[in-house]
Amino acid sequence: MKCPCNTLKLYNDCCKKAHQNIHSVATAEILMRSRYSAFVMANIEYLQKSHHSSTRPSNIEIKEILTWTKSVEWVKLEVLESSENYVEFKAYFYENGALNIIQENSFFEKENNHWVYKNGI
Ligand SMILES: [Zn+2]
Repeated sequence: MKCPCNTLKLYNDCCKKAHQNIHSVATAEILMRSRYSAFVMANIEYLQKSHHSSTRPSNIEIKEILTWTKSVEWVKLEVLESSENYVEFKAYFYENGALNIIQENSFFEKENNHWVYKNGI
């Protein structure tokens, strides 16, 4: 199967590594890509693990996120810019038949010796 974050790569050679071992993630961009793929695959456990503990969604919020991500049809991810602790991206998805785009500037930190998502604007 192709990787949700990049159709030029196989999942086995891309985000699967992160999903199996978050400590293998070397950069903020790889973490961001693996989180996009986790949204597509509704992998809530990974979404929580890759989220900074201070900004991690509550159990109620995570149920809403799970319901939402299963209800939309994810199209693709575009990484516009990335640096050591920052990624700007666009994520495309269909919701209720309409194409939507999320554009975000995301910030990342290391926690417990691996990269995590801190917040975004
Ligand atoms: Zn990937």
